[in-house]
Amino acid sequence: MSKGSKNRKETAFMEAHLFESINESEMVKFCRDLVRIESVNPPGEERAIAEYMAAALTGFGLEAELLGHGPKRASLLARLRGSERGPGILFSGHLDTVPVGNGEWKHDPFSGEIAGGRIWGRGASDMKGGLAAIIGAAKAVSESRTPLRGDLIIAATAGEEVDSLGAETIATRRDIGPLRTILISEPSLNEIYVAEKGVLWIELATHGKTAHGSMPQLGRNAITMMVALIEELEKLKIPFKNHPLLGGFTRSVNTISGGMKTNVVPDHCVVTIDLRTVPGQNHQEILKQVEESITKLQKKIVGFRASVKVINDRLPIETSPEEPVVRKFMEIARDATGKRPILKGVSYYTDASVLVPAFKAPMIICGPGDPALAHRPDEYVEISKLVESAKIYALAALKLLQNPDSASHPDANAEDSGGRSANEGRPLDNRIP
Ligand SMILES: [Zn+2]
Repeated sequence: MSKGSKNRKETAFMEAHLFESINESEMVKFCRDLVRIESVNPPGEERAIAEYMAAALTGFGLEAELLGHGPKRASLLARLRGSERGPGILFSGHLDTVPVGNGEWKHDPFSGEIAGGRIWGRGASDMKGGLAAIIGAAKAVSESRTPLRGDLIIAATAGEEVDSLGAETIATRRDIGPLRTILISEPSLNEIYVAEKGVLWIELATHGKTAHGSMPQLGRNAITMMVALIEELEKLKIPFKNHPLLGGFTRSVNTISGGMKTNVVPDHCVVTIDLRTVPGQNHQEILKQVEESITKLQKKIVGFRASVKVINDRLPIETSPEEPVVRKFMEIARDATGKRPILKGVSYYTDASVLVPAFKAPMIICGPGDPALAHRPDEYVEISKLVESAKIYALAALKLLQNPDSASHPDANAEDSGGRSANEGRPLDNRIP
């Protein structure tokens, strides 16, 4: 038997046995355990859940390292080493959840109750289900003892719901990469998302002069200035081209504060605006337009003074559906689930906005949760989706790392091993294979 055909037979054998390592009751246990460890952000306190994941993964033969962000906060970096060198793959999920909120919960948010084929609780969907699937996949891949060309790397991050603190730390690690792909296990019901919108949050302040409310002519009213500024910005035409998966650019004035008392002319007013950008837009250009609006009002209104501050700035991210790793991942998802996945884009941002620019690798979002449930009461994950995700991830790790040449462009394991990045301003070709 030739070496090649022996290898192919071994591969088929290992794939056939891979899914046997993913058992439902164990997957349910991982997910329930994770839901029961509170990691609400703020304040974060992700250390306990990071430690749980580290213990589980080292138990399955991975190397794990906690990255501390203070006494109660940590992210996790874990690795299943390949037997040969080559570009790795990064599976990433966040450890924190949003708070429980004021809504009524039928199921205790930290109980991990099971009912109706679902695991209930805060984070079940966004995204402890995704983390459980990563653990299950890592176990299956490790137990398969398949020689891998490149490392399977796992980043479980703190702080995604607030400031991507964990992803920012992971992004500085030079021992990660080159990477074939970055898989984000955010909720997608196991569909495949290859584009996410960018974010530009700006804070605008107007600066006036206080005076007694009965003598407004002696002051300069910061609230009136802000009204003029908001009107000016609403009229502002910010150019963009509709994106086939993301749609268009949006903006919304979402907070306002100003004034002290009814009988005092306000000297200060602040608004924050949420702008969601699509590939092709330039955040600096948008800021320039905002600044020009301020200059225009300074010329028009006596004593007008305003300033602008950027409070969140993340570029839109896209991977071309034509990217070989996307095509390969579509096949893998179909093989693991028996269904053809749909390619989509999402209007929210993920840790990909930090990890993709850092590692210059194509990103894919795919996870068991339902994006419609994120941040809402009575969050849950379907157990069937959880098991399905673990199978997709395990097969992806095996196929992308075991036989890299079939999954990527020919030079993927040479100089260009980081893969081509999303977000290079290339037009998105939406011919889905
Ligand atoms: Zn999330």
